[in-house]
Amino acid sequence: MAPIQLSERVRKLKPSSTLAVTARAMQLRREGIDVISMAAGEPDFDTPEHIKQAAVQAMREGKTKYTPVQGVPELREAIAEKLKRENGLTYRPDQISVSTGGKQALFNAFMALLDPGDEVIVPAPYWVSYPEMISFAGGVPVAVPTGASAGYQLDPQAVAERVGPKTRAILINSPANPTGAVYPEETIRRVVEIAAQHGLLVITDEMYEHIIYDAVHVSAASFGAEQVLTINGASKAYAMTGWRIGYAAGPKPLIDAMNAIQGQSTSNPNSIAQWATIAALSGSAAFIQMAREQFRLRRDRIVAGLNALGLSTPTPDGAFYVMADISALHRDELEASRILLEQARVAVVPGTDFAAPGRVRLSYATSLEQIASALERIGQLMGVTA
Ligand code: PLP
Repeated sequence: MAPIQLSERVRKLKPSSTLAVTARAMQLRREGIDVISMAAGEPDFDTPEHIKQAAVQAMREGKTKYTPVQGVPELREAIAEKLKRENGLTYRPDQISVSTGGKQALFNAFMALLDPGDEVIVPAPYWVSYPEMISFAGGVPVAVPTGASAGYQLDPQAVAERVGPKTRAILINSPANPTGAVYPEETIRRVVEIAAQHGLLVITDEMYEHIIYDAVHVSAASFGAEQVLTINGASKAYAMTGWRIGYAAGPKPLIDAMNAIQGQSTSNPNSIAQWATIAALSGSAAFIQMAREQFRLRRDRIVAGLNALGLSTPTPDGAFYVMADISALHRDELEASRILLEQARVAVVPGTDFAAPGRVRLSYATSLEQIASALERIGQLMGVTA
């Protein structure tokens, strides 16, 4: 039989390097090798009990059938209330679309917005999935570099300079994966102004809004909701990565188009997870506070430890990642990640796919003990002690 001919679209798709490292780490573990994973992009905490109970109750009540494509009205109302309460934003439930994770919300948005050759401006280093999703939808990602020395802050002027006739949207992600950068109010306001001047959309990925330390989260939509699509979800804030609930809030014509795409692809997000997310959004904020304090302790430990080893690492204001400069290892980031995994037994993600050459990303969504052991192992590899 002739080999199966795959589409050009899919042949251009790059597999996620984060998932590749995680798979190799899991393989080593299966072989009985003790690997510390600093690669994963998910909180290590369990989903809070009251959220699980809401899922059990939903199942008992038979809420196990198809729901409206855009999510049950009760969840969209809870999201509208959350956006009002926490972000000062006013949305009607028909301006909200619930998806299978923030990932699908973003995917729907790019599919709804982009024609071939349309450009999306993306600050770099960026989350690996952005350029892939944009390209998959036929668009072209246009990177705006940001640097470690400036704390990976975005220069709005650099964004303005990249706007051209093909630009459709500006994507921002604060707090950011992988850099942990949190943009101040002024930067976000300027980005929305630039978008308004040129008739562009701002897509703001606010997935990590609650994992923030000494900075304040500002929602882009507070500077002009008609110009902004807000993406958020339950995964990071409530340790619900496996439940797969994300959402988008924005201008109704765009939300309707995203719903149409979803209606012909995955239909509705999981019904039980939707009811659990209502409990998450309407319940106590104690979990979020606890997680934030734990993440802060871990961030301080890992930043101090890596710097003491000579791996220069800026202190991020949000998310649960650090970007370590690996020049002291005298290897490029791919080779450095390989020896860190194969020799030190610490899984990290090379900066290559994040557009962060010379750096690796370490996730500190793991216990303080694991962080201490990882630092010790890296120190042993380098022949230094932290
Ligand atoms: N946005 C960013 C920046 C992320 O890091 C992630 C997950 O890693 C997502 C969106 C997607 O989250 P999910 O699809 O799990 O809701």
